[in-house]
Amino acid sequence: MNAKILIVEDERKMAQFLMMELEHEGYDVEIVYNGREAMELIQNESFDVVLLDIMLPGINGMEVCRRVRQFSDVPIIMVTAKADVTDRVMGLDTGANDYLTKPFAIEELLARIRAIQRNRQKVSEDVLQVGNLVMNTKTHEVTQNGENVSLTKKEYDLLEMLLRNKGIVLTRDRLLESLWGYEYSGDTNVIDVFIKHLRSKLDSDQKGSVITTVRGVGYVIKEEKK
Ligand code: CA
Repeated sequence: MNAKILIVEDERKMAQFLMMELEHEGYDVEIVYNGREAMELIQNESFDVVLLDIMLPGINGMEVCRRVRQFSDVPIIMVTAKADVTDRVMGLDTGANDYLTKPFAIEELLARIRAIQRNRQKVSEDVLQVGNLVMNTKTHEVTQNGENVSLTKKEYDLLEMLLRNKGIVLTRDRLLESLWGYEYSGDTNVIDVFIKHLRSKLDSDQKGSVITTVRGVGYVIKEEKK
């Protein structure tokens, strides 16, 4: 799937030019010409990068950025004719990820978009998530509905294995092997016991278990249905 970019730019020629260049690179592009439309669209659609001009009619780019940050962490590159250091700092302070001064070479814009995408990728590898359950594999923190879930080492490892293989049914043997190594020769029921512990810690709401039992096979954490 192509990455999706939103251009927020009131100069129509500039917007068209950027769209053409970005589409040529294989991005899907949408354009809006003012801040209000930008906020509406960001609220209703997901974008991989937003190119946000600062000098816009009505609500300016800085203010758009500040407001968007109250509900979205979409990557924002500020684009502006103002080269002032204070503007640059202000832009980043309002939550922009990067800053580009007009006129700029299209190659520089493309490089910055790629850099932002690489960073996002890294973060998404560190953070495993399904629904309201989030595991940060760097800090080893697990939260559900924003609340900390305290897990033992083995419970954590089991959950990580299931999250990393989201949508794939893992057999008891496979889980045992990865958690205890090949040498383990015990009963595979031990997995059932750990799953039970995990469920008791995770399933405090009424939506049912995040971990699904596949009878006679093993366990799976299913992808969320969108
Ligand atoms: Ca402008």
